[in-house]
Amino acid sequence: MEPEIWFTEKHTHFTGITFKVGTVLYTGKSKFQRIDVLDTPEYGRVLLLDGLIMFAERDEFVYHEMITHVPLFSHPDPKDALLIGGGDGGVIRELVKHAYLKRIDQVEIDEEVIRIAKEFFPAMSSGYKDSRVNVKIGDGSEYVKNTNNKYDVVIVDSTDPVGPAECLFKEDFYRNVYGILREDGFISIQSESPFFDMNWTSAAVTNLRRVFPVVKTYLCFIPTYPGGMWSFTIASKIYDPEDIRNERFKEMDLKYYNKEIHKACFALPNFVRSKL
Ligand code: SAM
Repeated sequence: MEPEIWFTEKHTHFTGITFKVGTVLYTGKSKFQRIDVLDTPEYGRVLLLDGLIMFAERDEFVYHEMITHVPLFSHPDPKDALLIGGGDGGVIRELVKHAYLKRIDQVEIDEEVIRIAKEFFPAMSSGYKDSRVNVKIGDGSEYVKNTNNKYDVVIVDSTDPVGPAECLFKEDFYRNVYGILREDGFISIQSESPFFDMNWTSAAVTNLRRVFPVVKTYLCFIPTYPGGMWSFTIASKIYDPEDIRNERFKEMDLKYYNKEIHKACFALPNFVRSKL
């Protein structure tokens, strides 16, 4: 009988997600984190950073479409975007679908993640070939503090608020993002699991509210994420992100995002609304 390999990610000491592993395709350590790539019969290939699921091929489209297209369609005419993190290329793949974007800058702290993405997730990292994409290896919090560039949209596709990404959830980071966003700009961040990590979600919302006049959290459902429910939070200086200001999604191949989802995703269950 072939020995079975199973992967488990613990969300707390008492629960988690587990699934069968076909092959371990890669295991390594970068300057910042442990990196594993698993091939699984249920979810396809899976990227782990420090033993935590970053994405699975089967459901990553939900996360990458929702963190990208809600701000991009809330903006009347986005011309440039800054991505902090997102080394796997999923957000880049979604950004390059926007033909009107002139410039896409990315600041990713760990170039190993980009290398692994290109090697093991060629379809997901295909956006890196687009000539509008400029990748900078470095700390996103340093970049937003020092750059003179201005942006229409800033997307923060980070790991959890521990380790290298802790600085990306702080008030002074959001204050620096405010300074590089144009008047009609948006920032969207991944704001964790409201079911298992509401403390992280509410801390990020609180810090954004100290800087931006408009701050709204929205949800989506990703089977391989803790409890299946995931949150993003979007902030702006003047616009309500629930309003769609350009309908270019009609030209795009999208598997999750649509006009109705844009409206519905801001409807929050009472246990989330009461805490935020
Ligand atoms: N996109 C995936 C998903 O579906 O959730 C996971 C997020 S992506 C892999 C998170 C990235 O943030 C990692 O590549 C990590 O190296 C990067 N990162 C963490 N801290 C950072 C920082 N301070 N500046 C720039 N990138 C950072």
